[in-house]
Amino acid sequence: MHCRVMLRSVFRCLRTNLVAGQRNMSQSSLSGKVAIVTASTDGIGLAAAQALGKRGAHVVVSSRRQANVDKAVALLQSQSIQVTGTTCNVGKGEDREKLVQMTLDRCGAIDILVSNAAVNPFFGNIMDSTEEVWDKILDVNVKSAFLMTKLVVPHMEKRGGGNVIFVSSVAGYQPMQALGPYSVSKTALLGLTRVLAPELAQSNIRVNCVAPGIIKTSFSSALWQNEGIVDEFKKQLCIKRVGEPEEIGSVIAFLCSEEASYITGETITVTGGINCRL
Ligand code: NAP
Repeated sequence: MHCRVMLRSVFRCLRTNLVAGQRNMSQSSLSGKVAIVTASTDGIGLAAAQALGKRGAHVVVSSRRQANVDKAVALLQSQSIQVTGTTCNVGKGEDREKLVQMTLDRCGAIDILVSNAAVNPFFGNIMDSTEEVWDKILDVNVKSAFLMTKLVVPHMEKRGGGNVIFVSSVAGYQPMQALGPYSVSKTALLGLTRVLAPELAQSNIRVNCVAPGIIKTSFSSALWQNEGIVDEFKKQLCIKRVGEPEEIGSVIAFLCSEEASYITGETITVTGGINCRL
């Protein structure tokens, strides 16, 4: 008798775990979703497209150069990811509109925007930075993030909701030496996330942000290829290595999934444990 009761409770437990497993799988799935990822032919953007695509989303990749777009599309297709590609310089209004229209024409909807593009044309003392530097950095890193959001929101609303993710940086919390204007632009994205989240929650659109530390991409190669800088940097890290783009892509995919259904207005730092927040 005692044994039968025990067996019954083991079976009940197994059944519960099975159901929980199925629920987790469907909550992480992005099947049927359409995701635009800007600046997604390399580095973090490409890794984000991969992570979203592997969870079943149709991803729309883009960057300035057609050759880079073609390469990224071929790579994602070879991984059985549903993908469409086009050129888009996010600093140009006509390119942003073309990207959105092409997504609608080819995929019929937009559920996810990952605004990932950024430039940094300036290293040095902030007092030496020019108006051109500020215009370029704010146009690409901040204004285009907002203007892309503005373009896609009406289409997300038609779908009954969606997700917007901004890619900021640890520099947004802790300005990096010689990267003053870039750091300020990344702080602005933390603010943009907080400003948009309450307004877009009314449309069932969540707005979140990721702030990577040093990640191994071409953008940051001047940092991670310099042994002195890396050694100094590692002193601030709990996990004593530079991060990989996939480690940001997976966090972005999590934020876009139902697993993150109660998270909005948030920035997740993905830094190997840099002590950048209270
Ligand atoms: P990356 O590997 O150098 O890739 C940059 C991508 O952006 C390429 O696909 C490039 O392709 C595209 N691109 C550049 N300018 C563009 C523009 N104006 N419009 C559209 N696409 C453009 O860079 P990443 O390191 O992945 O950086 C991605 C994001 O992560 C940026 O927002 C950056 O600030 C942030 N981040 C990076 C690190 C890091 O350590 N790597 C740390 C913190 C934050 P084309 O040349 O074909 O345009």
